[in-house]
Amino acid sequence: MRTWLTPENNKYMLHIELTNLCNAACPICPRYWASTPLTRPGLEPTSITVEQFKQWFSPEFLKTQVQRVMLCGNQGDPFVCKDIIPILEYVTAYLPKNMALITHSNGGVRKPDVWKRAGELLQGSERWYMWFSIDGLRDTNHLYRRNVNWDKLMENVHAFMSTGGSAYWDLLVFKHNEHQVQEIRDLSTKLGFLGTRVKNPDGLFWDNKIQVRGVYDKDGILEHYLESATDPQYINAPANAVRSNIFPSKHIDIPEVRTANFSNDSYDIYEESSISCKSLLKNGSEIMVQCDGLILPCCYIGEIWSSGRTDDAKIQLQHMWDIEKMYLTKNSFSSIMNYFDSTIMSSWNQPDYDSGKCMYCAKICGQDSPIDRLIHTKASYNA
Ligand code: SF4
Ligand code: SF4
Repeated sequence: MRTWLTPENNKYMLHIELTNLCNAACPICPRYWASTPLTRPGLEPTSITVEQFKQWFSPEFLKTQVQRVMLCGNQGDPFVCKDIIPILEYVTAYLPKNMALITHSNGGVRKPDVWKRAGELLQGSERWYMWFSIDGLRDTNHLYRRNVNWDKLMENVHAFMSTGGSAYWDLLVFKHNEHQVQEIRDLSTKLGFLGTRVKNPDGLFWDNKIQVRGVYDKDGILEHYLESATDPQYINAPANAVRSNIFPSKHIDIPEVRTANFSNDSYDIYEESSISCKSLLKNGSEIMVQCDGLILPCCYIGEIWSSGRTDDAKIQLQHMWDIEKMYLTKNSFSSIMNYFDSTIMSSWNQPDYDSGKCMYCAKICGQDSPIDRLIHTKASYNA
């Protein structure tokens, strides 16, 4: 049986968050409070150092027990991590070329020389590449990647591509950029990207309606609205979902002390779902390593765990776990894997939430999961 302690082929799919620092201020990102550029309550600026990375993932582990290293994260951009290049140099020295190495970035940080070096390192294997998250063109990318300067981004993309490094373009489609999808595909090909992945954004559907989000500045003044595309193929919501006609207010109050927002999802509809874990895969078990050394069983839980909002499912997880047993800084890797098997995994066979069935797992990995609508069903590459 696949578990975290005994993964298929004895391999792990590592999703590593190198830092919780970021330059971009994307409105749906969990590192920010209520779609402002103010960070969520409790966010302590942290980055993994190359020394920590080497301590946590030995050459032997990278050589023999890793199916994939993905540098991404829920609340930070890997290229903001000051040790990004030494970490890439270390991973590329030991990870076999037939195992995946994937790095994400909004592309708007660091100087071109850093990107050139990254391009030199991400070569020699079709499984080693970058995802550049670029949600539009010069006139639209900043409506989501708020602080990314287009000229700087393009300079970095050119620097990376000039080395022959492999990269894909990752595109979230909203109302403000849906008319640009073909133009973006064309530009992507012209710049040397291997393909474009078109994604339907999560975070614009709640209360059974397709919603409009307000994007606010640091004083709570509305900058613009963020809306789902009009073309249904780009909307992350059930097929019969209706659009809310309520537009958020033009100003929100910023409290002196920002606390977690309580916004409950409708978990009742998932209670009877059978759970098919998206982390325990046939090519290895996935785990999420946060920048403070906390390991979580997947990035989906990582997202709610590290966000500035709380709900019944998060409270249930907080009761389920003794979090101190999940830090790589204090525990062995295998003891953490064992802990996941005996806690979250054993909850899946419980008949209902009252008996301990994990609410978040039922939502994310039960039937009609919002995650399944996010990418793979409607996404396409142009390569
Ligand atoms: S680039 Fe990623 S980490 Fe940074 S603000 Fe946007 S979503 Fe968050
Ligand atoms: S939400 Fe639960 S069931 Fe789904 S991938 Fe994460 S741990 Fe597995």
